[in-house]
Amino acid sequence: MVRYINVKSRARTEFIDITDKVQEVLKEAGIVSGICYLYVPHTTAAITVNEGADPSVQRDIQAVLNKLVPFEGDYHHREGNSSAHIKASLVGISETVLVDEGRLVLGTWQSIFFCEFDGPRHRRVALKCLGDKKSS
Ligand code: ZN
Repeated sequence: MVRYINVKSRARTEFIDITDKVQEVLKEAGIVSGICYLYVPHTTAAITVNEGADPSVQRDIQAVLNKLVPFEGDYHHREGNSSAHIKASLVGISETVLVDEGRLVLGTWQSIFFCEFDGPRHRRVALKCLGDKKSS
């Protein structure tokens, strides 16, 4: 069964920490050891694992992406959101996180971020948790 997390972005570009929501889904799925595959079914959003302790890191990543891929440019796509499409491809639309003892295996400073590049919008993230279930 594929599960979904709903995300509501509030800005044009925004990184939203979804670690707790992913952990909740993992608990519902009852997987104690395995993997959690996360997939963003959108063309102008992405997902990444990076520092969650200092919000400046997310701001810096967004600032550099905006510098690398400006909102306005010599783009052909008529919808006017080519920068968002390009950023989504640069960052990537999937992540795989290991699961052990029913918890996501993340480093002390790591969080899972949904990356909005063409907000604000309602979005979703698909998850497939695979592995050994709790024996009852
Ligand atoms: Zn577009």
